[in-house]
Amino acid sequence: MSTHDILEESKKYIMNTYKRFPLLIVKGRGNRIYDSEGTEYLDFVSGLAVNNLGHCNPRVTVAFQKQAQRLVHTSNLFYTEPQIKLARLLVENSFADKVFFCNSGAEANEAAIKLVRKYFRDKGSNCHEIITAYNSFHGRTLATISATGQEKFHKGFEPLVPGFSYVPFNDAGAVEKAITDKTAAIMVEPIQGEGGVNIPDEDYLRHLRKICDDHGILLVLDEVQTGIGRTGKLFAYQHSGSEPDIMTLAKGLGNGLPIGAMLAKNSIAQSFTPGSHASTFGGTPLVCSAAVEVLKTLTEDENILDNCSRMGKYFIEELSKLKGRYPHLIKNIRGKGLLIGMELNIKGEDIVNKCLEKGVVINCTMERILRFLPPLDINQIDIDTLIDTLSEIFPSIEN
Ligand SMILES: *Cc1c(COP(=O)(O)O)cnc(C)c1O
Repeated sequence: MSTHDILEESKKYIMNTYKRFPLLIVKGRGNRIYDSEGTEYLDFVSGLAVNNLGHCNPRVTVAFQKQAQRLVHTSNLFYTEPQIKLARLLVENSFADKVFFCNSGAEANEAAIKLVRKYFRDKGSNCHEIITAYNSFHGRTLATISATGQEKFHKGFEPLVPGFSYVPFNDAGAVEKAITDKTAAIMVEPIQGEGGVNIPDEDYLRHLRKICDDHGILLVLDEVQTGIGRTGKLFAYQHSGSEPDIMTLAKGLGNGLPIGAMLAKNSIAQSFTPGSHASTFGGTPLVCSAAVEVLKTLTEDENILDNCSRMGKYFIEELSKLKGRYPHLIKNIRGKGLLIGMELNIKGEDIVNKCLEKGVVINCTMERILRFLPPLDINQIDIDTLIDTLSEIFPSIEN
């Protein structure tokens, strides 16, 4: 079948939920992807913050190839070693005591929402409301769009799941004011990803922690995008000097294999008992074997996280120089590690398409924010290529 025919068949057979580039991608290696015509692209999206260790990372690939020949799935009626190894690695490298495995970010957040409700119900309390932030993104299931503080994700799907209220992000005072006698938790992303790479003040999470402690409510951090090294530490909360009660992970955890995880302290996790919650595919040996290698790679060798921080700084410096040259087009540069946003005064779609024509894949979120999410081992040469590409494009935008 020709590439053209395949793209046409997609329209015929696949529900139309995605706006896609007209490319058929057939191969990925490191931070390069290749289309069916053999064209190479420099990948600054990494499957949306998923392939943090690069496409087809050799260590991860070998691990799940071996596991695929041994055992792929048995259900959670049995114990399997990769799942237990992975849980131990997550616990040993975070605030948490216990892990629940699922298959995506939305599911991890669903699990967190259920655990919050169950925890208070077990205490005989009627607290169930969760305060989230405007411009947040927590997933596409009904509960997680309800948690998401953006109307565009609600429209057409009402009635929403009750029990959520929204406050401006990076405003601890607004959270304090929104607390009622029904409030059970505050749930935020340490940095809002889909919402435009919004970075809160350094003391924001510490303030939220204190508010939660003062009011006896739980702090839930959605680290689906910020986790697994993306910001230069294994988890973004580790920059803040405070810890959550519950944390959710997905995207980078399997470096491309579908896995989500919800982590919690013992005192909270104990509210989940046999029958409380489950997932048929949750934590299969196959995906866990990949995630074990991801975590080992990031924790045994500090170079990758160091590289993420250093290259992130360099990247932001170079983008800032570009902003100096095009102050009327570029409003703001922000980022932490390799979660980087460039806010434009114009829509970004045109620039994304022009980058693609020049062999560089970037992303645009909230219409005007170019988002860069390269693999964590990116080098300076490849960042320079992106900067050169943008430098070639911006003059043509002016005219
Ligand atoms: C992507 C994302 C999700 C949803 O993850 P899925 O795997 O698509 O369900 C949830 N929260 C955040 C912060 C995300 O970036």
